[in-house]
Amino acid sequence: MSMNTEIAIVGGGIGGLTLGLKLARANIEVLVLEKLDAPSSVYKGELLQPKSLKIFKRLDALDVIRENGFSFSRIAFEEGEKEFAMDYSILPGEYDYSLMIEHEKLKGILLKRALRYPSFHYLSGTLAKEYDNGELIVKRKDVKEQLTVKADFFIGAEGRNSITRKVMNSKIKKIEYNHQFLTVTFPRPQSLEEGKIISKDERFLGLFPLPDAKVRSVYLIPEGTYKKHLQKGIHHFHKNYLELLPELEGYVTRLKNWKDIQLMIPTAFYADKYVDGRLAILGDAAHTVHPMAGEGMNMAIQDADILGELLAEMYTSGRISPDKLKWYEKVRKPRAENMISLSHLSAIAYSYSNRVITGIRRKGLKQIERDKTLQYKQMLNVSGLGYWPESLWDRLIQAGMLPARRPELSAADKSHYFYTEKDDYPWKKVEQYDK
Ligand SMILES: Cc1cc2nc3c(=O)[nH]c(=O)nc-3n(C[C@H](O)[C@H](O)[C@H](O)COP(=O)(O)OP(=O)(O)OC[C@H]3O[C@@H](n4cnc5c(N)ncnc54)[C@H](O)[C@@H]3O)c2cc1C
Repeated sequence: MSMNTEIAIVGGGIGGLTLGLKLARANIEVLVLEKLDAPSSVYKGELLQPKSLKIFKRLDALDVIRENGFSFSRIAFEEGEKEFAMDYSILPGEYDYSLMIEHEKLKGILLKRALRYPSFHYLSGTLAKEYDNGELIVKRKDVKEQLTVKADFFIGAEGRNSITRKVMNSKIKKIEYNHQFLTVTFPRPQSLEEGKIISKDERFLGLFPLPDAKVRSVYLIPEGTYKKHLQKGIHHFHKNYLELLPELEGYVTRLKNWKDIQLMIPTAFYADKYVDGRLAILGDAAHTVHPMAGEGMNMAIQDADILGELLAEMYTSGRISPDKLKWYEKVRKPRAENMISLSHLSAIAYSYSNRVITGIRRKGLKQIERDKTLQYKQMLNVSGLGYWPESLWDRLIQAGMLPARRPELSAADKSHYFYTEKDDYPWKKVEQYDK
């Protein structure tokens, strides 16, 4: 049996579904193939950064996402006795907050929206096995016969073990870390209404409020100690949390079973190419980041936005050419690599327990809070709304070797570093000249 479509997307994760929705809205025939046939219980990203919120607004999905999520703008960093804060509200404009939403809930919202469009098709329980002669061979659950998919373009949105990346012969560069995380959601005290990162000596606990009075937690453990934690039992797990935040008594203690707690192994990699002929990869297929900065899912959404806009324009203008896919790589690859570096730096700051690193981290946080330019750069770069690279001067301020710049930035200074339409979709300008 064979199927024809304009665009085939392998993988119905956040990246594949965002792209599918975007293409369906442009009346493009799109087929999403997803190997799972039920929601997954594996923990994946839940924090939406401001740029993702902006993208969902354009896809007419932000209202329903807000109804099902929990928004906050401040993340407090407790370092021993000291507290510092990072605040999205420093960003000008309406996207000055982040939002936590359960991963499967967000997928459900995107899928439901996309299914409203007749040109959107979704096959669950469908494993993409391999590419053969420019076609995709897929196997459907409980169906003996294989299915062949023919398409103008194939997009690999199938996560870390991407078969599309392999057939493109795109090589990856990997970064490994010396720590892992335990992660679990549990009920939260009402007072926990903003992000909180607590670090004490070698210990780290991140808490991010979810709707329905729940909180997502991540607790850092050194590599190779997972079994020891398991053996010590659930009470020891409670004790670790309570030592860092006693207010969690009566909340974290409601966890009765280790089965609810997942081990999360951070890695980071990036592929050397995102496009090859009629193939392209996005999201975790093209890059993964350390989860510290909460960016992985957002990068998949941002890839989908740029690639979707490009493909939509090709089909609406009737000028369909694989060569144009290079625009997508040109915009997204450097941005993704910047984000990997930023997440990597944040991870390094929490990777070592010795006093020198802890001291540098504390100093850095203090200086970021004092120095309005550093603070703005940090929040802007994390938000995805723009990029303002950090200079040597910034680093010296962060290290406490130069004084903090206290004056607030002007609105014009702030907006200057926002991505414009031309930065996001640069081919539009060039193509206008071509006409
Ligand atoms: C434990 C963990 C914690 C994370 N924490 C955060 C966080 O706090 N914040 C954040 O922003 N990001 C986080 N991330 C990263 C984030 O979840 C990913 O970056 C994001 O989900 C990437 O989306 P994606 O659509 O590219 O890939 P995925 O979410 O991996 O989706 C890929 C989809 O493709 C399907 N698939 C795979 N192979 C095939 C095939 N051959 N045929 C058909 N279907 C296939 C899979 O079933 C899956 O549904 C975390 C990831 C993990 C694993």
